[in-house]
Amino acid sequence: MIAVGGGKTIDTAKAVAHNLSLPVIIAPTIASTDAPCSALSVIYTDEGVVDRYLFLPTNPNSVLVDTSVIANAPTRFLVSGMGDALSTWLEATSCQTKYANNFAGEKGSMTAYALAKLCFDTLLEFGYIAKVSNDANTVTPAFEKVVEANTLLSGLGFESGGIASCHAVHNGLTMLEPTHKYFHGEKVSIGVVTSLFLTDKPAEFIDEVYDFCESIGLPTTLAQVGLVDPSDEDLMKVATRACAEGETIYNELVPITPEAVFAAIKAADAYGKARQLV
Ligand SMILES: [Zn+2]
Repeated sequence: MIAVGGGKTIDTAKAVAHNLSLPVIIAPTIASTDAPCSALSVIYTDEGVVDRYLFLPTNPNSVLVDTSVIANAPTRFLVSGMGDALSTWLEATSCQTKYANNFAGEKGSMTAYALAKLCFDTLLEFGYIAKVSNDANTVTPAFEKVVEANTLLSGLGFESGGIASCHAVHNGLTMLEPTHKYFHGEKVSIGVVTSLFLTDKPAEFIDEVYDFCESIGLPTTLAQVGLVDPSDEDLMKVATRACAEGETIYNELVPITPEAVFAAIKAADAYGKARQLV
């Protein structure tokens, strides 16, 4: 089985190859998610809501990335991949501190946490240059680094380090239909800014993350993922789904309730909007 395409194609090919007991080669044409390297397919309902994670016995046999192909794809895909990758270290470090399990059901290794941190640092240092390179359909060293961060570092980091609230909030957002036309990493970006308030990060760090998101065009407000003036009732649906039994949000150190998640979503959105007015 050979998968040529983006996250949905890749996750589908990995699952089908597993069911047919075939080896699978992944050739991403965009760097929009960390799906290429992982031993995991996310299964959605026909309505576009995240249903469950399908755990596969092995990682793909081979992953081939041609950055000249990726550079000719629309920049929005690369930026979305940075949103997905931005969550990796935040979530892995929560798992590390809490001694929570990774996707193999074990505690993460030093290597996993170090790669997750390298992923985060690479994005903050080279993300903007990579975005501009993609705008010009040009492969630069910064572009190569960010494609590696989005694909390899984020993939190894999330799978071997573990995930927490950013992806749980993403899963919650899929409950609301208007978010469906937005990419995975764009919704994860809302999960990232929500996690900053949920886990009570220092103000300076919050600003650093917002600065980065704004510089490359990652969503920091709900309106930017299709939710213009959502009702409190709808946001409680998101928060409640994020806190579903068995969700990775419980890998955070703070006490988790739907009310706390609801408050963090509202705070992150308000902060994003306030910064846009300045
Ligand atoms: Zn993801």
